[in-house]
Amino acid sequence: MNNKIIFEKIIQKKTSKNIIYQDKQVTAFYDIKPQALVHFLVIPNIYISSLNEITKKNKDIVGYMMYIAIKIAKQLKISDSGYRIVVNCNKNAGQEIKYLHIHVLGGEKLNNIN
Ligand code: 5GP
Repeated sequence: MNNKIIFEKIIQKKTSKNIIYQDKQVTAFYDIKPQALVHFLVIPNIYISSLNEITKKNKDIVGYMMYIAIKIAKQLKISDSGYRIVVNCNKNAGQEIKYLHIHVLGGEKLNNIN
């Protein structure tokens, strides 16, 4: 079974009770295995497997996902202290779920990655 189905079920509200936000274009929900005090994901409602599938036609969704991520970070009051946005793309980056998603991590001091 392709693991993208996990996120499709979350969009359809068949599994996760962790949905923070949903509209016609995107869904945001808490990560099942949080890597920080606050860790949520933002995904498009229309299936896109990874950043590599972003084209001239669908590129606007990435900006919108980012906009919603920032909006939620503000609502959850992690924005002033700071947060990190991560998008893993394919094997070398460790993309586990083949469904485009933005990770938003915060609520505590994060380890430096550079
Ligand atoms: P990736 O490694 O693909 O960038 O991140 C996938 C993320 O999805 C991981 O952080 C993982 O914990 C999260 N995840 C996997 N399965 C589920 C699930 O069923 N529900 C939720 N809420 N998150 C999941």
